[in-house]
Amino acid sequence: VATGLAGCAEIQKPAEALAESLAADARIEALILRMTVEEKVGQLSLYAPAAEEILGNPQTGQVGLRQQFDDIRAGRVMGLFNGEGLAAKRRAQEVAVRESRLGIPLLFGVDIIHGFRTVFPVPLAEAASWDPPLSERTARAAAREGTADGFRWTFAPMIDIARDARWGRVVEGYGEDVLLTRRFAAARVRGFQTADLSRADAMLATPKHFAGYGAAEGGLDYAAVDLSERTLRDVYLPPFKAAIDAGALSVMAAFNEIGGVPSNANPWLLTQVLRREWSFEGFVVSDYTADEELIAHGFAADEREAARRAFLAGTDVSMQSGLYMRHLPELVRSGDVAMARLDQAVRRVLRVKQRLGLFEQPFRGLQEDAPGAPPRFDGVAHRQLAREAAQRCIVLLKNSSDVLPLPRSGRRIALIGPFADAHSLFGPWRPFPGQLPPVGIEDAIRAQLADASLLTVVRGSDVESPLDGGIAQAVAAARQADVVVMTLGESDQMSGESRSRTDIEVPPAQQQLAEAVAATGKPVVVLLRNGRALALRGAVRNAQALLVTWFLGTETGPAIADILFGDVSPSGRLPVSFPQTPGQVPFYYAHKRTGRPDAQGGPGRFRTRYLDATNEPLYAFGHGLGYAPVQYAALELSPGRLTPGQPLSVVATVANTGARAVDETVQLYIGARAASFTRPVRELKDFRRVRIEAGQTVQVRFTLTRDDLLFTGADMRPTVDTGEFDLWVGPSAVAGLHATFMLVPG
Ligand code: BGC
Repeated sequence: VATGLAGCAEIQKPAEALAESLAADARIEALILRMTVEEKVGQLSLYAPAAEEILGNPQTGQVGLRQQFDDIRAGRVMGLFNGEGLAAKRRAQEVAVRESRLGIPLLFGVDIIHGFRTVFPVPLAEAASWDPPLSERTARAAAREGTADGFRWTFAPMIDIARDARWGRVVEGYGEDVLLTRRFAAARVRGFQTADLSRADAMLATPKHFAGYGAAEGGLDYAAVDLSERTLRDVYLPPFKAAIDAGALSVMAAFNEIGGVPSNANPWLLTQVLRREWSFEGFVVSDYTADEELIAHGFAADEREAARRAFLAGTDVSMQSGLYMRHLPELVRSGDVAMARLDQAVRRVLRVKQRLGLFEQPFRGLQEDAPGAPPRFDGVAHRQLAREAAQRCIVLLKNSSDVLPLPRSGRRIALIGPFADAHSLFGPWRPFPGQLPPVGIEDAIRAQLADASLLTVVRGSDVESPLDGGIAQAVAAARQADVVVMTLGESDQMSGESRSRTDIEVPPAQQQLAEAVAATGKPVVVLLRNGRALALRGAVRNAQALLVTWFLGTETGPAIADILFGDVSPSGRLPVSFPQTPGQVPFYYAHKRTGRPDAQGGPGRFRTRYLDATNEPLYAFGHGLGYAPVQYAALELSPGRLTPGQPLSVVATVANTGARAVDETVQLYIGARAASFTRPVRELKDFRRVRIEAGQTVQVRFTLTRDDLLFTGADMRPTVDTGEFDLWVGPSAVAGLHATFMLVPG
């Protein structure tokens, strides 16, 4: 091929690349021909190295690296995950490459979810930035840090849509919305992997958990999911499609069952959708021991059957259970599993290892740095990025009588609550030592105040239990102050895997503290720390200013201080709807209508009510204020109809009527009036973050095409129905300018 096209420089490069990849494929086929069945299954078996490296722990039965080395030497290990330290990884790689019969390199995986040495805001917080390019940059930085420690594979991004705030893992994903999660999914994959997976600092991404994990019944982790195929296709699957289109080459199957079939053994998900419909070429990895868990699910009678069902459904790699190693060789020999299926799974794994450049350079990234060598990543730049990211994730929910920003001098501040110091800054998934030291709120405020003696700090309460005399001290401090800043909410132990909660309010001990402080009559600014939407009540809800600060990572304190003192105008927007009361969950803006709309309905507001509460949000999806008022002044659609060949142009005029610049996130929603299947009242279709200088007016343009209106039709394929649509452009899912347009046949 290359010779035939010689001389044509433009085409020569792809032709060479094609020839190279054919040669690589041929090498892999030759390798597969030489592999024993055990060696093949070895490439499908992934383990976490024992904590007690090298020796293991006879008391716990923990297997140490020494035994793992024997397995690696025997070709029985595909890779290791979450093990710290270069030396152990390098030694393991030496055994794989130099001492095993075929010398196939190991792949080192890790849960780098939102940072490694530098901890960036948790994914839910980054979703609040509505800034996927920013999230691409933090993923890139995390990948640089992880690959400097020998990891080339991360189990991220988690892109499970989550609409029930009780679920603990809401914090790990990008919230309730399909479009927002799709955009972040693609950005994260690009950030981790780059366009060239063979780069030393490229990290293989793993969109997870496939699929529907966020729809767990009752918000209870691991619980069964019962979703219609249409909802699955319209809501839960699109982020995965986006991640795969962005180049992701591994996918993790979810723990949960859907409609009676656990995802790790679901041929429809793993083969029909992923392979046949989406042409996914990478490999599927199980979740942690999820193949073995098929027995507990009641989906397999024993290990052998569990291995067979998971493997035949399409789970290529088994994480941690060792199930494949124990049963696949015999399953192949007995003919219950075809050798062709085994070869297919091995081929997928080896091709990814090849694309990562592991065969050529198995030790790249695994050498200790020589003394005096330049660091492998720029810690200063990453810290700056962490601060910028954290600033952009903070959401200002309310700011009565413009209590914020605070002046840097002349006002006495009482900082009250359990999160003033440096604990619970990171959120879940930070199992790594050696992080950059984080900066908490107290230290950052003190550093930024003109006169540090203006600050008094009182804990007042622990996260979940009262402190002796805490309330009295807090009240005394509040009385002495001009303004109170309260840090309230959840610790980093209160969300994450297996951390679902029935109670999504601020814990009672802190609520009591807030009530007592509010009774002093001093203006209160609440900084919420949270990994989910919270139901706010009483003094917390009624505080003069409310900021959602999630878990912001290494630069939590400085970013919050930048916002409090007004160096930066808040620009985050909620990626999850905040309910009025906990009983509203599951709660999200893109709900369906009923046949009995609320009397105050109108387009996009079809809700029925509870006896004891409306079903409106306290703070809507998309909501967030800056330090200057923004007005949506005009909305123009042209032409007023959309045809397959001709997109609709939407222009919104947005004015900053205040005295300082803001970053406004302009959001475009649509809703179909009638369709062959009912559609959500509103759906986000596009958004743009725009800088608007003080007193300026900008025009924000969107282009809506027929493809933006697709949903899953009768034959489970994408379709659209002609007819009338509502369209809104505004600052949240419940506000904005309204227009209508027609979709007409072309
Ligand atoms: C989690 C995954 C994670 C895996 C490996 C599982 O318990 O569900 O998200 O990647 O453990 O640590």
